[in-house]
Amino acid sequence: MINVNAVKKIYSSRSGKVTAVDHVDLTIHSGEIFGIIGYSGAGKSTLIRMLNGLELPTEGSVSVAGHEVSKIKGSKLRKARQEISMIFQHFNLLWSRTVKENIAFPLEIAGVKKSAREKKVLELIKLVGLEGREDAYPSQLSGGQKQRVGIARALASDPKVLLCDEATSALDPQTTDAILDLLVDINKRLGLTIVLITHEMHVIRKICHRVAVMEEGKVVETGPVIDVFKKP
Ligand code: ADP
Ligand code: ADP
Repeated sequence: MINVNAVKKIYSSRSGKVTAVDHVDLTIHSGEIFGIIGYSGAGKSTLIRMLNGLELPTEGSVSVAGHEVSKIKGSKLRKARQEISMIFQHFNLLWSRTVKENIAFPLEIAGVKKSAREKKVLELIKLVGLEGREDAYPSQLSGGQKQRVGIARALASDPKVLLCDEATSALDPQTTDAILDLLVDINKRLGLTIVLITHEMHVIRKICHRVAVMEEGKVVETGPVIDVFKKP
């Protein structure tokens, strides 16, 4: 489902060059929940952003759900992104729109008709457990509820892959567990491939099938979670 091939990402700024991702190879299978863990600055965010073309690799290639995301641009990239959705640490909701309107937004952009949109939004609200909150604004929601909106919005385009960028890092432990349970449920029910980045071991242990450990831009270890974390 996902192939990262000899990828390197160098940022150039006035203060010099930073190698954020340094020759990474990764294969992630269809239906997997795959975690990428590492300390701050390890390159996790840069790597996951290259999976949907938010960043372009300096070297190497990235293919996700049949799309060469490191090569395509414009309308092709926009189309690919419908199959490669993302959720964020700070939710990135539209604050002047209600729950329903936030979830409908990607469908509106894709030109889906109003009646089909409404049907889909109702389904998604049920799936993420936001019944009764349809007309609330993000400011009226708890952190966990905001992330549920983020998840519903991400699922609106029927993606094949869901990328989670520190999706529970702004949430308390109890809410984190509830959101992780929801991600497992979605993975099972929809067969969605999930890639998440985190600095929290707990998140990886709770839901991931396999994990990659990143340090200073490199993947230093990959394997099933039980194997990687069993070692002394
Ligand atoms: P992580 O998500 O693991 O915290 P990042 O991918 O955010 O790691 O960062 C990896 C390295 O790349 C860090 O040294 C960071 O400072 C640098 N970096 C990230 N984004 C940029 C950018 N837009 N410009 C310059 N350097 C960046
Ligand atoms: P956190 O997850 O740290 O509690 P929030 O979810 O409150 O953060 O905010 C996430 C982002 O949205 C921040 O960049 C913040 O500035 C912005 N934001 C928060 N509330 C509003 C608002 N009412 N209108 C516009 N932007 C907002």
